[in-house]
Amino acid sequence: MNKHILSKSTFIIGCQCSKALYLNEHHPELKAKITETQQAIFTRGQKVGELAQKLFPGGINLKNEYQFDFAIGVELVKQCLIEPDIILYEAPFQYNDVLSIIDNLVSKNGQLKVYEVKSSTSISDTYLLDAALQYYVIKNSGYDLKDFCIVYINKQYVRHGELDIEQLFKIESVMDKILPLQDYISEKIEELKSVIKSDNIPDIDIGPYCRNPYECNFIGYCWKHIPDYSIFNISKLKEEKKFELYHNGIIKFEDIPADFPLNENQKMQVESELTGKRIINREQIREFVEGLNYPLFFLDFETFMPAIPLYDNSKPYQSLTFQYSLHELESKGAELKHYEYLAQADYKVDPRIVLIESLLENTKGPGDILVYNESFEKTRLKEIANDFPEYRDETNERISRLMDLMKPFQSRFYYTPEMKGSYSIKTILPALVPELSYAELEIHEGGMASNAYESLFEETDSDKISKIRTNLLEYCKLDTLAMAKILEVLERE
Ligand code: SF4
Repeated sequence: MNKHILSKSTFIIGCQCSKALYLNEHHPELKAKITETQQAIFTRGQKVGELAQKLFPGGINLKNEYQFDFAIGVELVKQCLIEPDIILYEAPFQYNDVLSIIDNLVSKNGQLKVYEVKSSTSISDTYLLDAALQYYVIKNSGYDLKDFCIVYINKQYVRHGELDIEQLFKIESVMDKILPLQDYISEKIEELKSVIKSDNIPDIDIGPYCRNPYECNFIGYCWKHIPDYSIFNISKLKEEKKFELYHNGIIKFEDIPADFPLNENQKMQVESELTGKRIINREQIREFVEGLNYPLFFLDFETFMPAIPLYDNSKPYQSLTFQYSLHELESKGAELKHYEYLAQADYKVDPRIVLIESLLENTKGPGDILVYNESFEKTRLKEIANDFPEYRDETNERISRLMDLMKPFQSRFYYTPEMKGSYSIKTILPALVPELSYAELEIHEGGMASNAYESLFEETDSDKISKIRTNLLEYCKLDTLAMAKILEVLERE
């Protein structure tokens, strides 16, 4: 058997962009390094896949037998399927130079069914395409498939006690959706094989497909003619509008035609960039600042979203708060006090319980609680009030005291060219308080914090645990210190 030319993942890359497929094959050195987030998604997928195997118990994991020699694997599958009743995990098939590895293959009375596992909560078009490819390979390898199902996560499942995997997963047949795709799959395979065999890089310019359905690994290579700050950074401008400008040869702000339709905020962003002008609406800022009630608290949460619910009363992918940082400012000009809480990573104890007790204690009494992007903290607190009725009243009282420090920036009461169209605290801070920066921190954004915390569940090295915890504490503390310093700037205006 010849080595395969396409696999499920390279086929999907090729469907997104044939240039990406070519580069992946011939210039892997141009690929972006795998990010922590991508690695976390991959690890999560593996864990979900292993758990889903329990829905089909007693199977043989063929991967252990063939390792990466797929020809051996394909032959093994053939031999195994002589048995009318058998379950195989990671079963490889190959046809027409395409390799397909099936998560769970169930043969009952000689009738074959496929169960492909996804760690998502819905079935996307890409999953159907990938299922259609797998069906094509198995069917044309000479096997009759009775059914093809996708196993995915039931987002309505609420854990109570032991994990109920029958409830955690949904199983849906997609046969009626993948059969009509067979002609397309067959044509696409030939097209993509010729892309790989070609001597030249396909002549494809950048487009919306660079980030849809997945962020392409070659953006660093294909987008190098686009400056760091360009028309692609115009806030909330639709993708098709950005590419309309691009296809007219417009990349820089100064080249945007005067009559190009932009909303007020977008015009402000462009004008501010071109003139270097700061836009400060002092009246609105004063109204915001004078509306605040001391003592002021500055609060920030960090959360993680386990695909498989770990605790009672939690759902798949629910945001669980594991950490907070709180600065308190008793009166204008007073010294800031700091409080914080970071839960131990423990499969048995919901981090939110001790966290809310600590937070309620430290926010007793009067005073507004400032957050940055209120809907996030408010939703987390509402969930806690809902999941733990014993804290409901007090938690609701804290919710009633929340104020959003993002508002003056989101409403563009305060805008400088350094903000580059964004009102995220990560861009506001260097623009307003350049002496404070996230750049030096090991953890410098929420996704990293969440991955770092999740890694603590498996980590056994006490030095590493202590380092990760220190990094998490530093990061969250800077978020609330930043808020206090940003407010100082607003008060000076
Ligand atoms: S960055 Fe865009 S154009 Fe380049 S390979 Fe990826 S999808 Fe294709």
